[in-house]
Amino acid sequence: MGLLEKLMAECIRSVDELREVLGLSEEESQELQRITERYPICITPYYLGLIDREDENDPIRKMCLLDRVEFSEGGEEDTSGESDNTVMQGLQHKYKQTALILSTNQCVMYCRHCFRKRMVGYSGNEIADHLPAMEEYVREHKEINNVLISGGDAFVNANETIEKYLEHFISIPTLDFIRFGTRIPVVLPQRITEDEALLGLLKEYGNKKQLIIATQFNHPRELTPEAVKAVRALRDCGCIVRNQTVLLKGVNDEKAILADLMNGLMSCGVVPYYIFQCRPAAGVKNKFQVPFLRGWEAVEQAKALMNGHSKSVRYVLSHPTGKIEVIGLDGSGKMIFKYHQAKEAKNQSRIFSMELDSGQCWLQST
Ligand code: SF4
Repeated sequence: MGLLEKLMAECIRSVDELREVLGLSEEESQELQRITERYPICITPYYLGLIDREDENDPIRKMCLLDRVEFSEGGEEDTSGESDNTVMQGLQHKYKQTALILSTNQCVMYCRHCFRKRMVGYSGNEIADHLPAMEEYVREHKEINNVLISGGDAFVNANETIEKYLEHFISIPTLDFIRFGTRIPVVLPQRITEDEALLGLLKEYGNKKQLIIATQFNHPRELTPEAVKAVRALRDCGCIVRNQTVLLKGVNDEKAILADLMNGLMSCGVVPYYIFQCRPAAGVKNKFQVPFLRGWEAVEQAKALMNGHSKSVRYVLSHPTGKIEVIGLDGSGKMIFKYHQAKEAKNQSRIFSMELDSGQCWLQST
């Protein structure tokens, strides 16, 4: 058994196993069992070990442990129009410069706040199934200058699969870089630090084209020595490591936590890139969404505690029409937004403002 298979075999995938570890009651176990039939569970022993078991409201616990709120009403399956952007199975082309590939529906941890909850660990219908056709598409669309290999978690793929992706895309001259979307540095850093073959692969191909690892640290307690070691190993291979945080109620919606996280990321060479507004996804929104007004206040107050590099992070939402930055309040109390990336050219860089309700967490129209 290879390292990845061994690490994946150790993951906790049943309520029974959790019950033992966390001392759940019979009633709690039965309730959670019902949820796993729709939204599967998978937690690495490493990440489970980061939970403060004395604290019911522990932020690490919230991100990995199921909750009955996941079954509450409301929410959408596809919050940013992914199906409309799909040009062939597993390949999305929303922004003209970027091709997004869903390489797997598997992760080593199913984050409770995942916006692709509709499919991770559940349905393979949206997963890439014909790499040569994807290569051809990217070659033909010369406006595409980068490919994002995501999922699920791109590093759950076997090294041979990762290499196939690299082989297919590395020689396309119009690509400036290739990105991998992965939470492995956060939830299973050993898959990186103990896997010489993976590191060798990244180094070899990274010498031919820039590789970028887009990861997702959401709380400073995730920046453990193991995680930092994984990040450093990736950087030693020549990869650029960037972070996208999701703003999550009860996890990181406090100025001090956000500032510690962004400054902590910079201290190990990870550039904070986006703070994402949590999307109104089914099974997610009622538990994790933070209203814009409160989110903006937390981000701005946190920026006052950050160094200049940390505060290059942008507070954005990924809307069907584009990536929209939350700029701040104007003199009349309206929130100003700006398109950072737009699906349609007419919206590129467009600034607009609107009055927000105090509890408003999403934009229906722009
Ligand atoms: S690792 Fe990413 S894709 Fe997988 S469950 Fe977490 S947020 Fe979703």
